[in-house]
Amino acid sequence: MFLKLPKGSESVKKVEKYEQIYINMSWIFIAVALFLLMFNEFYDVEDKAISNFTVYGLSFILATALINSLKQIVISKGLFTWDRVYMIFRVIEVVILTFSRVFFEMGQLLYPFLFYIVLLIAFKKGKKGALYLVSFSLLINIIFDVLHALIYQSDQYTIFGAQNIIRNVLMFITLFMFSLMCGRIYEDSVDYEQKNTRLYLELEDKYQQLNTAQEEIKLHNEKLKETNFKIEDANKKLRESIAEFYTVQQITQAISSVFDVKELLKHVNDIILGVMGVNNSTIILYDEKKDRLRVHTTNVSNKQELIALFDNINCEVLKDVLKSGQSLMENFVDLKEYPFTEEREVSSLICVPLVTKTKKFGLVLIEHKYFNAFDEDNLRLLNIIGQQVSIALENAELYEKMHELATVDNLTGIYNRLYFQQRLQQEFEIAEEGGYDLSLAIFDIDHFKRFNDTFGHLFGDKVLKHISNLLKNSLRSGDIIARFGGEEFVLLFPRTGLKEAYDKVELLREKIAKTTIKDELVAASVTVSFGLSSYPEISKTESELLKMADNALYDAKEGGRNCVRVARSASVNESETN
Ligand code: GH3
Ligand code: MG
Ligand code: MG
Repeated sequence: MFLKLPKGSESVKKVEKYEQIYINMSWIFIAVALFLLMFNEFYDVEDKAISNFTVYGLSFILATALINSLKQIVISKGLFTWDRVYMIFRVIEVVILTFSRVFFEMGQLLYPFLFYIVLLIAFKKGKKGALYLVSFSLLINIIFDVLHALIYQSDQYTIFGAQNIIRNVLMFITLFMFSLMCGRIYEDSVDYEQKNTRLYLELEDKYQQLNTAQEEIKLHNEKLKETNFKIEDANKKLRESIAEFYTVQQITQAISSVFDVKELLKHVNDIILGVMGVNNSTIILYDEKKDRLRVHTTNVSNKQELIALFDNINCEVLKDVLKSGQSLMENFVDLKEYPFTEEREVSSLICVPLVTKTKKFGLVLIEHKYFNAFDEDNLRLLNIIGQQVSIALENAELYEKMHELATVDNLTGIYNRLYFQQRLQQEFEIAEEGGYDLSLAIFDIDHFKRFNDTFGHLFGDKVLKHISNLLKNSLRSGDIIARFGGEEFVLLFPRTGLKEAYDKVELLREKIAKTTIKDELVAASVTVSFGLSSYPEISKTESELLKMADNALYDAKEGGRNCVRVARSASVNESETN
């Protein structure tokens, strides 16, 4: 089966091209025919009419010209290769050619046309088509020969004329052979063409497949790119999460290991600088009573810059952050809006509040010299840091309160016995290691039982508070005062020798004795008795120091009260008052 090629295909073009050659040849032949007519007798003198030759010649020329023109039109319309159209033209041409050969007496001159027609039909319809046409041509030939013989009664051209028969037989044998040959060539060429077409189609198919494969590869590539992008994004997020985790872990570690708040905030500021890669980091604390912000820690070191920062930090824009609890991110800093950036090259900043549910502690402020330096991730991380630090500050405050509760006496507000014991131990070690003096005094209110009985327990309490305040106001900051129990108090004087300590307590004793304590109804005063000891002059150990002072107090009571007694081994003046 032959493959059908689409309209306008190579084979259609080929058919039309060959036909065009035929048409051109025909036009030339018309010219030749005209030439022949010119050299023949136009008028038949015998018959007194236009000669038959002229009539046939003109008929041939007209018919051929008509067919040529028609064919040209049909070709231009693209209808020529239609099987029926093609065959009609071929048949008409065979009729015209045979007619002309027989009647116009052009003889052999027309054979090349017949051969060309056979060639064309063989190339279009194959061997079979060519044979049909040759057979048809033979039939027409015989018919016209018979007609010619009948019309002209000519001996020379009768169908029985040997010369004519031989010539016709030879011509048609040649035509048959020619058509067989052309048919064969045509089949080979069609075969070849088919193979080519098949190859071409296969190639086209492969090309299509290749195209599809390329498209798929492209699609895969796109997907791969997309996946790659997603992985990169995930990687970036992971890296950021690790950085965040590391930062939070560092802060947590700092919080758990640094107990001093000042130290902690300095440490946190250093972590922020290291982890966030900013130019400046500042921790600002808020004084609730004064409604003021002040710089607590900063890495800004230039004197001028520091002055500007300290002077302008208490500004509304930062107070708003603290009061609203809403963080602030600004990637295009305007000095007018942010006065604290004066004298410094700041283009981007983030400020997060240090707040808990119950308290506003302050702010963390980070700054960068480039515009658009911060994004949401930076803001989120600083917020996490801010929350951690706020919790640490709240804990520190709570710890301070608890510590105070544990170390301070409820009634008097001075240290309790437990705390005193700790401090005694510390101070003794310092004195021992540094070779310093350390003196210790205990005093007890005289006849306090009786006092209570006389003025009431509540008034007694007031006396205890009053004496405590008097002590606090009279002693220097390094001295330690504590309520030792009941109406007994203890005093520790670091880096103080026996003599100096003696003078101090003597002064205190006098001061207490001279003090009158009043309320709405009562005014009274008390006296106290002191026992005093000192390291290394009297006591050699920590426990000795306390014990010997206690013994001295006993001596003071024994000795009549309202006096200072120094522990036994000492030889200092004693004082006594009434
Ligand atoms: P002395 O001169 O020998 O010390 O006589 P004193 O009466 O003070 O004797 P003591 O030290 O034994 O008595 C302690 C009294 O102090 C008993 C108690 O009524 C009183 N006291 C102890 N603690 C408090 C207190 O917290 N408030 C009041 N109002 N009195 C207390
Ligand atoms: Mg007592
Ligand atoms: Mg007493």
